[in-house]
Amino acid sequence: MSHRFLWIAGAVVLPAALFSFVHRSTAQTLQTPPPPGTLATGGNLRNPPAPKAEPKPEPVGLPNPAQIAELVLANHILATEDVLGAYGHISVRDERNPDHYLLSQHIPPELVTAADIVEYDMESNPARETKLVGYSERFIHGQIYKVRPDVKAIIHFHAPELLPFGATGVPLRPMTHMAGFLPAVVPIFEIRKFGFKDMLVKDNDMGQALAKTLGDKPTALMRGHGAVVVADSVKVVAGRAYYMMINAKVQMQAMAMATGGRKVMYFTPEEAATSSKQDGYERAWMLWSAKQKGR
Ligand SMILES: [Zn+2]
Repeated sequence: MSHRFLWIAGAVVLPAALFSFVHRSTAQTLQTPPPPGTLATGGNLRNPPAPKAEPKPEPVGLPNPAQIAELVLANHILATEDVLGAYGHISVRDERNPDHYLLSQHIPPELVTAADIVEYDMESNPARETKLVGYSERFIHGQIYKVRPDVKAIIHFHAPELLPFGATGVPLRPMTHMAGFLPAVVPIFEIRKFGFKDMLVKDNDMGQALAKTLGDKPTALMRGHGAVVVADSVKVVAGRAYYMMINAKVQMQAMAMATGGRKVMYFTPEEAATSSKQDGYERAWMLWSAKQKGR
């Protein structure tokens, strides 16, 4: 065998052997997990790859203390002025998050403090873990806020002055100048369609039905139970609930007196529309707030 033949054979065999070695080596690298100290995504511990941009979480924080303070004050005012009694409640839409609302735990309004306020979502579940127990009828609030973006505050109450209108179907009609907001026909919620219940709106289905009865109106009566009132602020909803009671009392007195062919003079739609503007119940709120000083 000549040297020339050996040189040619080497030129063919050696590159083939080298190719085979490199090929096997690469395949092995792809199948073997990275050794300790390196990162599977590339780079190593000293030079990690740039992290992927994660979507920012929703800002989570506590409600505005000023909004809570106003809600607490409203609870005390409406207790003092005999609007809420022991069982009524007032809520406000969370100004940071329109899909949440604020409402006290299940205690009498007179006793409510900032520590009793719970933040709820539209299904009336607490927005964060809490040991506080909510009102069984909180679903009224969530379901109305859900379908009425114009509503910022809601009162549910059981004023005895309103009950005769819900029970008889005699229309509650605007006839006093601070209650011009009352619609010509105040809708009445009938809970009997859910079967024989304890009259309480205790789940989202019943809350949804009540919100449907309310429609686009500022108030609805609830037969055998009370009423719900809505507005675009805490002050206005408080004024509406209070003067709705006054209107009901005056209307019953007027109807009792209207005998011998006399008729009760109700507001015309124009009188009701003009009266409803008023001052947003600012002066009433000033009076009621002053009475709360020194509690
Ligand atoms: Zn109730």
